[in-house]
Amino acid sequence: MPASAKGNFKKIINNWPEDKVDVIVVTDGSRILGLGDLGTSGIGIPIGKLALYVACAGIYPSRTLPVVIDVGTDNEKLLKDHLYLGERHPRLTGEEYYDIIDECVVAAHERWPKALIQFEDFTNDHAFPLLNKYREKLLCFNDDIQGTGGVALAGILAAMRITKGKLNEQKIIFLGAGSAAVGIADMIVAGMIEEGLSKQEARKRFWFIDSKGLVTTTRGDKLAEHKIAYARNEKPQKTLLEVVKTVKPTILIGVSKQPGAFNEKVVREMKKHVDIPIIFALSNPTSKSECTPTQAYEWTDGNVVYASGSPFDPIKYKGKTYSTGQGNNMYIFPGVGLGATVCKATKITDSMFYTAAKTLANLVSKEDLKKGRVYPDLKDIREISSHIAVSVCEIAYSEGIAWEKRPDNLLEFVKSKMFQPVYLLYKAV
Ligand code: NAD
Repeated sequence: MPASAKGNFKKIINNWPEDKVDVIVVTDGSRILGLGDLGTSGIGIPIGKLALYVACAGIYPSRTLPVVIDVGTDNEKLLKDHLYLGERHPRLTGEEYYDIIDECVVAAHERWPKALIQFEDFTNDHAFPLLNKYREKLLCFNDDIQGTGGVALAGILAAMRITKGKLNEQKIIFLGAGSAAVGIADMIVAGMIEEGLSKQEARKRFWFIDSKGLVTTTRGDKLAEHKIAYARNEKPQKTLLEVVKTVKPTILIGVSKQPGAFNEKVVREMKKHVDIPIIFALSNPTSKSECTPTQAYEWTDGNVVYASGSPFDPIKYKGKTYSTGQGNNMYIFPGVGLGATVCKATKITDSMFYTAAKTLANLVSKEDLKKGRVYPDLKDIREISSHIAVSVCEIAYSEGIAWEKRPDNLLEFVKSKMFQPVYLLYKAV
């Protein structure tokens, strides 16, 4: 969708040959994975995510629509590349930017009012405002924020099955205060509220650290909008070690892209105050991980619940093999999308992601937990997605936000709606 076609997006959308579209994944190409601004070359991400919808949750391939909105690029290399396909101007900003996005979203929503729109890989300055603008008006979510939140919460709920802790008693430090951190924190807050805390009480159980240190109202810089709710009213602290010493956290989450930031001192300090620390080093790829599973097991004498953002091989510690879990968003978003489209929900609520996380955590077997894994085996992903979809539908029915009537056997109904990638062989007669 090129910005220069402004005023004509409805016509472009109407040219799409499929009348039935269930899931649209849209990006503006501004923050593709760890690669940054890829302009229109970011289209690979919506295509890839939709492939996961098909493979993991049985969304019909013909009912998926990948979209890149071309608002220009600030990537100098691309602007000079004669093979670059996008518009050759700096990224539009401010009102001009939001008008373009709005025209696209409205055009797509008008043609397919029941389709789910997934916002993907937008920079934080746009990701949060766009989500807040559309989340009550149409069926949409942001995977970098809510999908990440859901999958991390699922890992934490499964970890509680090992540590026997209660979610609303945890003290949680985040290294990194971007979209993943805030998405995860918001989802845990939703979980703590379900367990009886008020929003204010829940938020007090979080400490965020960004590139400037502990996020506080007192440190003298202008905080980005998305950090304000979690800014603490206390004296600034610079390092993670200092914060760990004062807070004595039970959970440490890394979403900072700072490899090695969970060093031996930090992990040993954390272990002093808690029997089984929960350490999620979620930065991707593997080389960016805040610590490795081997380090986490060694520095805690094997008493840790560890999960990563990228895959690690199983490790051996004191004669026992541990295969730690990978908090991959593909555990959550395909099932949420399937559920929302099957019952024809009118919006995606935080309770849907919370129930998805709870369902995923309950699907982790006792054998998995014994091996230190807080996520189930990905080979069962279609079964997992169907159960998540059922729990999402149940929320939509109970909140009165589903167009479709509730069938008697919801699981059977959900499964009957899933695309089966099976080749039919016909014999020539
Ligand atoms: P982001 O760019 O929005 O946020 C990065 C944050 O790290 C910023 O708040 C920044 O201030 C902070 N930071 C930078 N240097 C720091 C330092 N030295 N000390 C402390 N904080 C520092 O990125 P994001 O979308 O939030 O993603 C962060 C990481 O999490 C990425 O590596 C991403 O791949 C990973 N991630 C994992 C999953 C998953 O496991 N399911 C999901 C989403 C993101």
